[in-house]
Amino acid sequence: MIKLENIEKYYANKGVKNYVLRHVTTQINKGEFVSIMGPSGAGKSTLLNIMGMLEEPTYGSYFFNEEDVTHLGERKKIELYRNHIGFVFQAYHLIDEMTVYENIEAPLLYKNVSSGERKSRIADLLDRFNIVAKKDLFPNQLSGGQQQLVGIARALAAQPAIILADEPTGNLQSVQAEEIMELFKKLNREDGITIVQVTHSEKNAGYGNRIITIEDGVIKEDLKIG
Ligand code: ADP
Ligand code: ADP
Repeated sequence: MIKLENIEKYYANKGVKNYVLRHVTTQINKGEFVSIMGPSGAGKSTLLNIMGMLEEPTYGSYFFNEEDVTHLGERKKIELYRNHIGFVFQAYHLIDEMTVYENIEAPLLYKNVSSGERKSRIADLLDRFNIVAKKDLFPNQLSGGQQQLVGIARALAAQPAIILADEPTGNLQSVQAEEIMELFKKLNREDGITIVQVTHSEKNAGYGNRIITIEDGVIKEDLKIG
């Protein structure tokens, strides 16, 4: 689904290149649930952002569904590929001034999904996530776990093939974190959605079937589990 070939990423500071990623070659296959682990500052978020085309590598090639899109223009990249990727963030990134319903609807308006289709997709998600009663509330009226459910519902509304999640339970209590991980597992197993998450938690990583460990910008280990 996503293939990275010899990816490098550095930030230049006064002519000095500070490497964040070096010689990263890996691929994410359809149906996998992958966890990226490693110490703080190892380059986990940068790797996830490159997988999601939110950041460009300074060297190397990026393939999406076998197609080399490394040098495709930003607009085409978004139009053709990034629309197939759902993003979930540690701090949820919901829009405070919008209700739960409107937050989930936002990406569908952006993509010109018809009004009937929007209604039906959102109703399904609200129902499935047990948040029908919350639909007219604003994010600050919800618990953290509920806000993350809305964040995931918003990502799913656009029917992505893959979800990229950066520390999705980093701000949550353990009970809520488990709920979110159970949901990811279900989305992966029952709906066939490919998932890549960054996590510090061994326990969270245990919900998936592969762990990529990075240290100092280099892949140290790539393990199939479960
Ligand atoms: P992790 O997610 O593993 O904690 P990150 O990918 O966030 O690591 O960051 C890896 C390294 O890249 C860190 O040393 C960080 O300071 C550096 N870095 C990230 N973004 C930038 C940036 N925009 N400019 C300069 N350095 C950056
Ligand atoms: P949790 O124990 O899961 O963290 P909270 O104690 O934050 O949950 O919230 C419990 C319930 O109260 C939730 O269903 C949430 O939607 C509701 N709630 C929390 N804060 C508000 C608020 N300011 N206005 C309306 N409902 C709220």
